[in-house]
Amino acid sequence: MGSIHYENNNNIHITNPLDPEEFRNQAYKVVDFIADYYKNIEQFPVLSQVHPGYLRKTLPQQSAPDDPECLESILRDVDRFVVPGISHWQSPNFFAYFPSSSSTAGLLGEMLSTGFNVVGFNWVSSPAATELEMLVVDWFGEMLKLPKSFLFSGGGGGGGVLQGTTCEAILSTLVAARDQKLKVIGRDMFSKLVVYGSDQTHMSLQKAAQVAGFGEENFRVIKTTKSDSFGLSPTSLKMAIQSDIEKGFVPLYLCATIGTTSTNAVDPLDSLCEIAQQNRIWVHVDAAYAGSVCICPEFRHFLNGVEKANSFSLNAHKWFFTAPDCCCLWLKDPSALRSSLSVNPSYLKNKATDSGEVVDYKDWQITLSRRFRAMKLWVVMKSYGVANLRMFLRSHVKMAKLFEELVERDERFEVVVPRNFGLVCFRLSFSEIDKSNAMNLKLLERINKSGKAFMTHAMVAGMYLIRFSVGGTMTEERHVVTTWKLVQELADEIYLM
Ligand SMILES: *Cc1c(COP(=O)(O)O)cnc(C)c1O
Repeated sequence: MGSIHYENNNNIHITNPLDPEEFRNQAYKVVDFIADYYKNIEQFPVLSQVHPGYLRKTLPQQSAPDDPECLESILRDVDRFVVPGISHWQSPNFFAYFPSSSSTAGLLGEMLSTGFNVVGFNWVSSPAATELEMLVVDWFGEMLKLPKSFLFSGGGGGGGVLQGTTCEAILSTLVAARDQKLKVIGRDMFSKLVVYGSDQTHMSLQKAAQVAGFGEENFRVIKTTKSDSFGLSPTSLKMAIQSDIEKGFVPLYLCATIGTTSTNAVDPLDSLCEIAQQNRIWVHVDAAYAGSVCICPEFRHFLNGVEKANSFSLNAHKWFFTAPDCCCLWLKDPSALRSSLSVNPSYLKNKATDSGEVVDYKDWQITLSRRFRAMKLWVVMKSYGVANLRMFLRSHVKMAKLFEELVERDERFEVVVPRNFGLVCFRLSFSEIDKSNAMNLKLLERINKSGKAFMTHAMVAGMYLIRFSVGGTMTEERHVVTTWKLVQELADEIYLM
């Protein structure tokens, strides 16, 4: 049976790299390996403790092997050499960055997607890949109560797409906005266009602007303040726009954020969109992390005003039980995007495209080839159902709230900004900022060195703070309580020094 014959460990003959029985046989072993990994995940230091260059130093094999190795031997190497260099994002004690929440359904969906391994760049190349994607972005949009104008089912030309990452979503909408504007005012006006964000906007915006050819003189970083909870003030935006117009610049694009990376600040969408509309500015709403939780009615108000925006995106691969990559992007009027991104070589010509009845997703993204991402989202939605998805998300928020309460009860600490979602920003508080920054840096280093939990920091308004971000699928209340005890113990140590 099968096309791999193990005569001995050094003598394996492979005639077919995709033999169904061999696949079945080996895939079970990998499933067992992953299941055991999850079961034992708390034994590993959450943040990998290896030093740079560790792998080449420890791996006995210094070039690709000439002869095949059996799966058992490969998995042994994974165990011995790779796992030590893994920072365990799925550990229940992972509280760093934002979560990348795995789930059984997400994993199985990924397996199906890779199993089919279709490249659905246009409809005809695999109709189900396109149509399932149109369906899931609509389902997701309905769960989020996005206005009908963003959905295919709305019938007004709007719709969504699954891209890889938020960086791509911002770049592609920026390019769409740029070309649309230049069509009106003339291509020679490019050097006058201005892109707006705040000092809390994710670096994706800056990267997109760089890639799209915008110089520093075309990029405005508007300052936020602690008194505004680091949200972008509409008055500041208005002033920046006025000053630019007076200097002969043309306002083009605003990236507003729901749930900034440093502190989960929320930009006041409604007022910002009003100002943007008056100035014919394309508004993109980046809700990469916090967008998912807005499927819960009690969080939906954070999206108020989205109906006035041009585009909206979130990362299902952050807080929606789906592995990377899976960024959902919705647009009210995708025609600008298509006009910037579509190229139609003769070798892709086909009747379906010519009929105008189909969506060809290659025209909605930067790359041509694309993964069947809809499969994993669809399996997640079907496996859990909206009610359970809401319950999972609420349980994370509840744990963040618990951590926040624990921090507030210890007078050595402070919660730095009000908590909106599953992120708590806290620090040891000292009246002197330099001392405070140094002590919190020390505390975070000790937390992460312990291997018992992993958190990251942010720097806002000169203040170094520690971010505690809950969203791991396996995190339970007991992990949060134990981690807080660890933080307190390490703080005791620092005070004694
Ligand atoms: C994570 C994050 C991004 C970047 O997402 P990628 O998918 O890695 O490009 C952008 N914006 C916000 C607010 C984020 O939290």
